[in-house]
Amino acid sequence: MQLPQLEDLRPIAGKRVLVRADFNVPLVGGVITDDLRIRLPLETITWLLDEGAAKVTICSHLGRPKGKPDPKYDIAPVRERLYELLKQRGAATDRVELLQNLRYNPGEEANDPAFVESLVENEDLYVDDAFGAAHRAHASIVGPPSRLPSAAGRVLAREVEVLDRLLQGAGTPFVAVLGGAKVSDKLGVIEALLDRVDALLVGGGMCFTFLAAQGHGTGASLLEESQVETCRRLLLSSQKIMVPTDIVALSPGGSFGAGKEPSGEVRQLGTDVPDGWSGLDIGPGTAAAFADAIGSAATVFWNGPMGVFEDPRFAAGTRAVAEAVASTKAFTVVGGGDSASALKAFGLDGQVDHLSSGGGASLEFLEKGDLPGLEALRRAAARSRS
Ligand code: AMP
Repeated sequence: MQLPQLEDLRPIAGKRVLVRADFNVPLVGGVITDDLRIRLPLETITWLLDEGAAKVTICSHLGRPKGKPDPKYDIAPVRERLYELLKQRGAATDRVELLQNLRYNPGEEANDPAFVESLVENEDLYVDDAFGAAHRAHASIVGPPSRLPSAAGRVLAREVEVLDRLLQGAGTPFVAVLGGAKVSDKLGVIEALLDRVDALLVGGGMCFTFLAAQGHGTGASLLEESQVETCRRLLLSSQKIMVPTDIVALSPGGSFGAGKEPSGEVRQLGTDVPDGWSGLDIGPGTAAAFADAIGSAATVFWNGPMGVFEDPRFAAGTRAVAEAVASTKAFTVVGGGDSASALKAFGLDGQVDHLSSGGGASLEFLEKGDLPGLEALRRAAARSRS
């Protein structure tokens, strides 16, 4: 996919550049627990400064403040960390500004033209480096490219290049591994991927809707009743879907999850979960079969944990997949969010070819082959050519 690149904006000397970043970092009590998202666009920002930009104004959302100021989501800690990181690189921070959280203004999510106007009014160029937000048709994503010469920053360009390779020219066998909680979030991408992959491995909470579609009991496991029929249709239409053949489950009344004292009995089961029991991880047989499939692939895409990996009793399935993805020689792409945290928790981050900075955006790109933010940049390029 051809996107306008930073070089296409030259000359940059003396220009004012608006940069959309994705600084949506995890915050606990105002403290940033992982600054990766602030580090990612530094390459773009320092490139613009080195080219002589008069000013680089960065904007980002942070959390979900619902269209009004909320001190919990003040961008100040991000600003402090950004300046620290830029100084470490010897960059001229006096030419860099970070605007307050975009979502303090209801115009951001509503894509309000007046808010777009306020963002672009003192700017000459626009750079989108917020891959994690490229699937949102929000003001700061789709507005500026209709007003200013625009380009993709390095993060966005790299993400799209890698994901495009999965869609256009993935080496085979191509294996996709999908997990996470909700199946309805992922049915679109499952359908799209079935045309491209050789095998699609399903774990996590979403596997129970598939198991129910096969006629198995799912007990108190996560189940999306309204999606059972669609899962049945998918299973009938494709031999490529691999669902678990064993499950690790927690007894009725047992507790798990953040902030809770773990309790209850944990048992390995086949594919039938008895009444009251909750399936919370794939079993060891499934984990081994998934690891084998990953090990014999040439291309692997993984999104979503295989179980409630935050609880050590239900982490083995996700760990097995993470280890298989980390150790294979295949081209490996991991799609953001929880899979990235899982890799990190197991000390395996850095051992995959591409760790996407946008979970939702990468799934939507694989499903639809395009995103509103990318379309907007291509339209801007077409306008500047005509
Ligand atoms: P998602 O945001 O859809 O990627 O879901 C991620 C979450 O799914 C993680 O926090 C996991 O704890 C959770 N999860 C994975 N497997 C299960 C399961 N079998 N039952 C309930 N939650 C699960």
